[in-house]
Amino acid sequence: MALIVQKYGGTSVGSPERIQAVADKIIAYRDQGHRLVVVVSAMSGETDRLLGLADAVSASPNPRELDVLLATGEQTTIALLSMALAERGCLARSYTGAQVHILTDNAHNKARIREIDADRVAADLDAQHVVVVAGFQGVDEKGNITTLGRGGSDTTAVALAAALKADECQIFTDVDGVYTTDPRVEPDARRLERITFEEMLEMASLGSKVLQIRAVEFAGKYNVPLRVLSSFEEGEGTLITYEDEGMEQALISGIAFNRDEAKLTALGVPDQPGIAHLILGPIAAANIEVDMIIQNVAPDGKTTDFTFSVHRNDYQRSLEILQEVAGGMGASEVVGDPKIVKISLVGVGMRSHAGIASSMFETLAKEGINIKMISTSEIKVSVVVDEKYLELGVRALHETFQLDQATPA
Ligand code: ASP
Ligand code: MG
Repeated sequence: MALIVQKYGGTSVGSPERIQAVADKIIAYRDQGHRLVVVVSAMSGETDRLLGLADAVSASPNPRELDVLLATGEQTTIALLSMALAERGCLARSYTGAQVHILTDNAHNKARIREIDADRVAADLDAQHVVVVAGFQGVDEKGNITTLGRGGSDTTAVALAAALKADECQIFTDVDGVYTTDPRVEPDARRLERITFEEMLEMASLGSKVLQIRAVEFAGKYNVPLRVLSSFEEGEGTLITYEDEGMEQALISGIAFNRDEAKLTALGVPDQPGIAHLILGPIAAANIEVDMIIQNVAPDGKTTDFTFSVHRNDYQRSLEILQEVAGGMGASEVVGDPKIVKISLVGVGMRSHAGIASSMFETLAKEGINIKMISTSEIKVSVVVDEKYLELGVRALHETFQLDQATPA
């Protein structure tokens, strides 16, 4: 008998019929003897609808009142699901975030969980109830309703699992797990049976948006085994845990990509101490995140080229800032390219294996894909290429690293 926290996302509870199907599923788990805490999102589209209503009455909705409004989405689902469970003879109780003391800071619309008082939930579980909790919401010290940012129900589920020391946190969604890459780009993409927290963070932050990143961080920090699985199909999904020493690691677990990149270069800047700071200082001051940075050697010992990448939304502003600072330091020219993408190989197994990068570069060369920037970390090799090569690059790399095949045991 296990204690499981399950989370059902917006699509899974998107209609009364689907809520009833979720109720049946929950009862099937309960009948296997498990104790269950269920976290739900708002019905699909509901949070957007509420945001639309707020926009219709205010040009910049008051953040506190916006949270009061948005929290109603999840409050609707906990009530409906609990009714559906009761209708089936299953003891169930719904709670808002405030009722189970999900205490957060007071950063409205993007609050962080500080503490959960799990006693109330534990008492209900002891009384054989299924406990249904509203995701995405909490309460600050003064009793104001807060919300955790889009996708925040994942984090509610993980935080509850950590507080209750649950055996597993299961995230039910509209995909049946985490894939080696996006199946819309590579139809041969394969569902991973397991992936480490570190890999999942890279996959998620690079654009494989299956889980809220903060939820993965939280699960890693408190060592909560996290499983992503489909609400609509049977299956084991993907388990996200720490690296298992005994397990044969694949060199590469997956290929992540990010379409929202842009790069900028200042040509002919003086090769002197302090230049990188002079260029990036004003960019940082404008709250623009810089991803990759490259500075070339100066062939003449006097001037060099300085390149960095930013999110595509920050491209225009970065260009303006760079033109100003580069002009001031006598750079010869500023050029930019907003049509680039980043492709990354991710795998904890690459730590102990050489040659990943060279196979990657060889593969891209064979396809005639020019690499514009490169960066590496312990578990990742990333390249920046023209956006038109994204699909070709991802597919070729998927093939080279045989990601369509499971690692031999
Ligand atoms: N309902 C919220 C959203 O749409 C939270 C969630 O679904 O996780 O972002
Ligand atoms: Mg979600």
